[in-house]
Amino acid sequence: MHSPLKIAVVGSGLVGSLLAIYLRKAGHTVHVFDRSPDIRTIQFSGRSINLAMSTRGWKAVDAVGIGDDIREIAIAMDKRAIHVSDTLKFQPYGKEGESIYSISRGTLNRKMIDLAEAAGAEFFFEQRIWDISLATATLHIGETERGEWTDLKYDMVFGADGAFSRIRHRMQRQSMFNYSQEFLSTGYKELNIPANPDGTHKLDKNSFHIWPRGEYMLIALPNLDGSFTCTLFMPFEGDNSFASLTDRKSVEDFFAKNFPDSIDVIPKLAEDFFKNPTSTLVTMKCYPWTFEDKVALIGDACHAIVPFYGQGMNAGFEDITVLNECMEKHGDDWLSAFQEYQTLRKPNADAIAELSYRNFMEMSSSVADEKFLLQKKIEKRFSEKYPEKWLPLYSRVTFSDRPYSEALAEGDRQKAIMDEVMQLPDIESKWDSEEVETKIFEYLS
Ligand SMILES: Cc1cc2nc3c(=O)[nH]c(=O)nc-3n(C[C@H](O)[C@H](O)[C@H](O)COP(=O)(O)OP(=O)(O)OC[C@H]3O[C@@H](n4cnc5c(N)ncnc54)[C@H](O)[C@@H]3O)c2cc1C
Repeated sequence: MHSPLKIAVVGSGLVGSLLAIYLRKAGHTVHVFDRSPDIRTIQFSGRSINLAMSTRGWKAVDAVGIGDDIREIAIAMDKRAIHVSDTLKFQPYGKEGESIYSISRGTLNRKMIDLAEAAGAEFFFEQRIWDISLATATLHIGETERGEWTDLKYDMVFGADGAFSRIRHRMQRQSMFNYSQEFLSTGYKELNIPANPDGTHKLDKNSFHIWPRGEYMLIALPNLDGSFTCTLFMPFEGDNSFASLTDRKSVEDFFAKNFPDSIDVIPKLAEDFFKNPTSTLVTMKCYPWTFEDKVALIGDACHAIVPFYGQGMNAGFEDITVLNECMEKHGDDWLSAFQEYQTLRKPNADAIAELSYRNFMEMSSSVADEKFLLQKKIEKRFSEKYPEKWLPLYSRVTFSDRPYSEALAEGDRQKAIMDEVMQLPDIESKWDSEEVETKIFEYLS
């Protein structure tokens, strides 16, 4: 058991609000600060309107008994629907019964704040944290950066304030604090596929839709109201880039040529294209994540990753699972709890950053490639027959809670084996033969 502390959480995003629930259940007084207005009182619009939740995320919400509340607002996606030229191919994500779940970010965030309040956390909105005194866990809040600030002292502060965290900003000024950030030359823009007049979905609702086109791609995730949120990922500059689509005609021509089957279902294409912002994608790494037993970073504040594995929030939720285990193990010894938390999480955060970066190629190119799909079929067959010998990389990341670092290492090993297998003569005709199976066993040993 812990002695109850007075704890501030900066950020009422997905990670901050879930952390607040965990800290309340552990008996602490919890104040959550956010610079934005209460998301429950405004029309939500922001980056990425929906998210895919998978096993790590579910584990963290189930452990505090809120999983069923969230299942009510989730749509299962058990497969990729791959839109290649004029055909549509389906590729299951995992085994029978395994799905990732499309959830509206706004609905989820509102629900989690409600649940955190019900658990006794207090929320303070439109409160900008400009700085923190690390040694005393004192927050500095004010209207403007140069104006007057109020000081609020806590026993401990968690920085759950996202990729451009102010709490981290202060930690960066400490000696021996490592930090890096790298922007992709690819950005993204959101578009919308509205529901049919009767409220049904215009595309298969239980699929994650992808239009893979190499350097750029379009994806669509289902919403509960029958609509889909689409995201166009594309380079900022060059041919086929955001810079090259400058007027209505160029956008419409581009979509007609490259995503012909999307034209009928995105009625406000040009309007949305020019109305919605083009956003950047960043990978941010840093270390350490904690300061003494006073301050800890969590979620995007300590590991922002690109979204191509659908794991950012899931990884942030898993931080909470691990932090909670460390808290339970070390009781009032917060220094040891924080040390263990960051030591356990850092290699895994780095691994999912790397896997997410690499997965852009898989989503935008490989899924359109026959050889790649055949390789996936071979892996799937082998892993279904010998599950203890082969857990495919995607499943290890998405449908298991094995460490991300293990997924990265095992994925590399499996890739080397599959590269050999795919070289076998006539692999297309004998992909499900005993010979191929024997080969895989040989390589495995
Ligand atoms: C296009 C895209 C698609 C994505 N898809 C997925 C997906 O499918 N699955 C998945 O798991 N993840 C996905 N992610 C990642 C996911 O969105 C993030 O990992 C997740 O939102 C991080 O949550 P967080 O609470 O750590 O930070 P945030 O959601 O960024 O929340 C931070 C909060 O802190 C507040 N704040 C910031 N600064 C201050 C300050 N100075 N004072 C007070 N408050 C402050 C902000 O207002 C905000 O409410 C995606 C991300 C993008 C960009």
